[in-house]
Amino acid sequence: MERVIIIRYSEIHLKGKNRGFFERIFMVNLERAMRGIRHELHRTSGRYLLAGYPEELEEEIMSRLKRVFGIHSYSRGLVVGNSLDEIYAAAKLFAPQDGTFKVDTHRADKKYPMTSMELSAAIGGRLLHDFPSLKVDVHTPEHTVYLDIRENGTALVFGSYEKGAGGMPVGTSGKGLLLISGGIDSPVAGYMMAKRGMGVKLLHFHSYPYTNDGAKEKVKTLSKILSGYSLSESLITVNVAHIQEEIHKTCAKELNVTLLRRFMFRIAEIVAKETCANCLITGESLGQVASQTIEGITSSNAVVTLPVLRPLIGFDKDEIIELSKKIGSYETSIQPFEDCCTVFLPDFPAIKPNLRFVEEEENKLPVKELIEEALKSKEEFKL
Ligand code: ATP
Ligand code: MG
Repeated sequence: MERVIIIRYSEIHLKGKNRGFFERIFMVNLERAMRGIRHELHRTSGRYLLAGYPEELEEEIMSRLKRVFGIHSYSRGLVVGNSLDEIYAAAKLFAPQDGTFKVDTHRADKKYPMTSMELSAAIGGRLLHDFPSLKVDVHTPEHTVYLDIRENGTALVFGSYEKGAGGMPVGTSGKGLLLISGGIDSPVAGYMMAKRGMGVKLLHFHSYPYTNDGAKEKVKTLSKILSGYSLSESLITVNVAHIQEEIHKTCAKELNVTLLRRFMFRIAEIVAKETCANCLITGESLGQVASQTIEGITSSNAVVTLPVLRPLIGFDKDEIIELSKKIGSYETSIQPFEDCCTVFLPDFPAIKPNLRFVEEEENKLPVKELIEEALKSKEEFKL
């Protein structure tokens, strides 16, 4: 009898030739989620079995699995030989002492000498005999003992299903570069894209010395929380303080934010190409702040050719906050550190920047040189 965690994936996307690709990536992601914990991972048809881990780390493993996209459900269970006595010995450990229950059997091994119904009845009968206060209720039982007869002479026995994170395995839908700030929205945007299977690279702009180390640490913490889902391995940072100074000195005040965002997007596109990302991801939501209008979006999109994904575009702030609490990033996001966007913030930022005017103002700056210089400040931190 061995403790195992049974992991089931969502099969919806596993059509034909894609299956091997999905399964391979899913397996790699499970391995990455288990990093630092001794374990064995086996694939049996339609399931993965995690075994050989230290028992005292089971809770930690369960909480890590909760964040792995592509998992439909998972269960703590026992793997035993498929004889009635062995199955019963395990079933007893998952059975309640009283209340109502049923035994639910699934047979992958269709040659097993008993039908699912017969096996459920046999195990259920023994449980009733050993625990006289138990009652069977096949429709709405308080407890269920699940039996899964595998094809390799073993049986899995477990008592509940935990709902998985759903979505698709990270890495099966291309790669994107997330512009991550210290705010509430961008980590949620990264989560949303990772959920759809996108690999998420992380880029943060800071304005040292206008922003401090606390602000950077905050973004590192957010990146680590996000990487629990997105499996991102590092955070890239670029200093844009000098660009901000030049914009502030030279250009119309109301365009500060608009122009900075165009620089951010240009730099992001260069970093995306270096990191093999096929798109940019931001946490913008329509109408949330002055720069998040269709004109603002038009002005920043105009400087890049990569697609820009904005998974939160139609979300209300309340909905984003709810998600950030679910992800576990909210408490960090609300810590009061300055973001580079709040440095040199004009009193009245342009809400509907006119693209011609934006370009005119921007032409007063040595755009290419400023970008090249900013890129020299690029740093990468392992998460
Ligand atoms: P967030 O909560 O994500 O900071 P926000 O509501 O504060 O968003 P903005 O500050 O306008 O909105 O930023 C919009 C988006 O631009 C962010 O979601 C993020 O993707 C990107 N962004 C803003 N500031 C930075 C930064 N310092 N570094 C990287 N990306 C940034
Ligand atoms: Mg922000």
